[in-house]
Amino acid sequence: MNGPLISPDAISSLLRGLGVNTTYPRLRIAELIMTRREHLSAEQVFSIVNQTRPRVSRATVYNTLNLFVDRGLLQTVTSQAGVTLYDPNTEPHLHLHDLENDTLHDIPLQVLDGFPLENIASGFHVERIDLTLRVRKAEQATA
Ligand SMILES: [Zn+2]
Repeated sequence: MNGPLISPDAISSLLRGLGVNTTYPRLRIAELIMTRREHLSAEQVFSIVNQTRPRVSRATVYNTLNLFVDRGLLQTVTSQAGVTLYDPNTEPHLHLHDLENDTLHDIPLQVLDGFPLENIASGFHVERIDLTLRVRKAEQATA
């Protein structure tokens, strides 16, 4: 699931625009998350980033991902196993979790148009919706 290629210059200026100093690890991690457009754990990012040299430490990966969340470049979503996944789609959206291959797919929030949220959350302001549909292919769902 690769997104459009983003030039290193565009990534640099994006990070600078968010007030992030552009170090080598930050540029590598930003490039990775913005081209793959997947929901990756810190351990997955650590492993992929270190397929090429120079090596990036685990602490740097975690710190960089948290910095990117803090600056609004990523949001977090918790996997079924309780692992934090980093999501490059920072627009409000829902998830479809394909349990067969353990991948998350984004669903636009508009599918909830007409859903009576204001009745369900009466008296509250909805700040964020975390909704994940856990699915298997229909023909494999019944034993
Ligand atoms: Zn997502």
